[in-house]
Amino acid sequence: MQQLLSFPGGFMERIFELIDKLEEETCLTREEWVTLLEGRSQEAAEYLFQKARKWQKKYFGNKIYTRGLIEFTNYCKNDCYYCGIRKSNQKAQRYRLSQEEIMECCHVGYELGFRTFVLQGGEDGYFSQKVLEDLVAGIKRQYPDCALTLSIGERSYESYLGFFQAGADRYLLRHETADENHYGTLHPPRLSLENRKRCLFDLKKIGYQTGTGFMVGSPGQTAEQLAVDMMFIRKLEPHMVGIGPFVPHHDTPFAGEPGGTVELTLFLLGLLRIMMPELLLPATTALGTIDPQGREKGILAGANVVMPNLSPTFVRKKYELYDNKICTGDEAAECWDCLSQKMKQIGYELAVGRGDYKEENVCTM
Ligand code: SF4
Repeated sequence: MQQLLSFPGGFMERIFELIDKLEEETCLTREEWVTLLEGRSQEAAEYLFQKARKWQKKYFGNKIYTRGLIEFTNYCKNDCYYCGIRKSNQKAQRYRLSQEEIMECCHVGYELGFRTFVLQGGEDGYFSQKVLEDLVAGIKRQYPDCALTLSIGERSYESYLGFFQAGADRYLLRHETADENHYGTLHPPRLSLENRKRCLFDLKKIGYQTGTGFMVGSPGQTAEQLAVDMMFIRKLEPHMVGIGPFVPHHDTPFAGEPGGTVELTLFLLGLLRIMMPELLLPATTALGTIDPQGREKGILAGANVVMPNLSPTFVRKKYELYDNKICTGDEAAECWDCLSQKMKQIGYELAVGRGDYKEENVCTM
């Protein structure tokens, strides 16, 4: 703060200047990121969100891309300290969807208008490479006009390549934090940031539309670490970035930790939009969980994607990564209608279509 007060043009001006600089040059130094994040204010956020919406409108109009999420297994061999389905949580009620159940989710989603399915699950050895490749190929055969996204954790290059050749189009793997020490405080020793990054660069190399992301307000997180996250994202150049507030789960080592805030999550969404205007940027369920209007606020801060749940209602509650997750009782159609209404109220509409990332996204500026 002392440092900020010493800027010749004054404190607020410096923050506005940094927002302008990020928009024009699409990158900042680490020190500049920290200054911007620590010096943010309500006025700065409003200035930022206006810019973010300008880019969002230029690339996507008032269309919000939709992805149908199918949470097909909550078994996981990993033990991430923040996660409600970590292997040490004996209280989690485990389930796996059968191939028929997964296909039924796709069927329901397709009828509703979804043209992207996201298969998400813990790192569950029960689903072998062959089983998953067959599943991917089966979905693509049945729904050739749909995009298929996988979100099933860290794998080898060969494994990712196999899924890609079977027809998978996109892959989501949040890095969670790009700071080595912080990574070590959120994950058990067998997981490393180095391997997580290796996975992300492999996915890009293979040709996936690749998504990364991080939790906002995870235990121990500082502005310096967020600066490193933003710089890592700039370097990786992913196609999608999913960020959501950290929400503690009662049966994890972080049960008593404070959660992340809507305010900081929105600010970061706005920064991501002006840094990389063509990014696919979800307004996450976690944001909607800590604020009933969180997803609408996310869209108004620059996000352009929502991911309603297509999982059968009998498993929804069991895929509880964090406490009080919303939409665990609604049928897929209710989720679609509810989100459609919410988007309409703020002047947007749900898009029917694959919603691909396009290098040459039509920009009319
Ligand atoms: S965050 Fe993912 S990898 Fe870690 S325990 Fe949870 S499901 Fe498993």
